[in-house]
Amino acid sequence: MLRIQFSMLMIALLAGATLSGCSKPQPAATGTPVAPAATHPAAHSDVFRFRIGTLDAFALKDGDIDVANDGKTFGIGQPSDQVAALLAAAGQPTDVLHLSIQPLLVRSGARILLFDTGAAGATFARAGRLPASLRAAGVQPSQVTDIFLSHRHPDHVGGLLTPEGALAFPNATIHLSIPEWEALKVKADVATLVSAITPKVATFQPNAAILPGLVTAVAVDGHTPGHSAYEIASGNERLLYMGDAAHHYVISVQRPDWTVQYDQDAPLAQASRRALLQRAADENLHVYAVHFPFPGLGHIKVQGDSFVWVPDR
Ligand SMILES: [Zn+2]
Repeated sequence: MLRIQFSMLMIALLAGATLSGCSKPQPAATGTPVAPAATHPAAHSDVFRFRIGTLDAFALKDGDIDVANDGKTFGIGQPSDQVAALLAAAGQPTDVLHLSIQPLLVRSGARILLFDTGAAGATFARAGRLPASLRAAGVQPSQVTDIFLSHRHPDHVGGLLTPEGALAFPNATIHLSIPEWEALKVKADVATLVSAITPKVATFQPNAAILPGLVTAVAVDGHTPGHSAYEIASGNERLLYMGDAAHHYVISVQRPDWTVQYDQDAPLAQASRRALLQRAADENLHVYAVHFPFPGLGHIKVQGDSFVWVPDR
């Protein structure tokens, strides 16, 4: 869970935490930037268009989270210089870990699917750009037909409501796993959210084929009671949306067995993380990572007794 203490966030900010350049527009290796640059140039760096088989897909930037490298969130129980060494080897600052936030949009005929909704309103994030990113991709919120939540944390459900408390995607069915919904429903601090989305919620059994041939749930246990990744298919092509199976593109992938404060059942989450990374590597899956550097597309490769992230670009 992103239960980052406000003080930790302030420490990160005071320490001069900076973005890792994830919002810079880059030439596309597997996709293309969206629309002519003349229309809304500021928004285009927040949208990355690619394909899943015959489907149109878009990485939609919502925002950023910076986490101080103080041993309280990543690499709990590990010497701090171990985390710093991995960050330095990747060319990253060693005092802060940067997490991007980019929900995924997929168009399939008349259906418009959105995977997670970003961190609008969350105090630990600089976020809330999803509505603008969505529009820059040519989609109005009312056109979204299906939302797939990986889990209930605020950086994934934050965009479900407008600042006024209305449904941000009024025509969308909201899919989440049965155990995740059961856990969310009883949280008193999200009563407003639960009340607003209840008429739209459609629960599924872990690992269910939710939209057969298109979207299949992939249970990844331990992060939350019903955390789910998703596999999106088109013909022979597949994309694995990892959810929060892995948070940081270096630490989570290269040291999947290290404890992360966000994981509710850390040992179970660590085993699930390793298993999913192994499967992604074994099957050479195209992977979408909601918190890796934008646009979060790439592959997992085996490296020694763990793994490494190989981004598309
Ligand atoms: Zn998250």
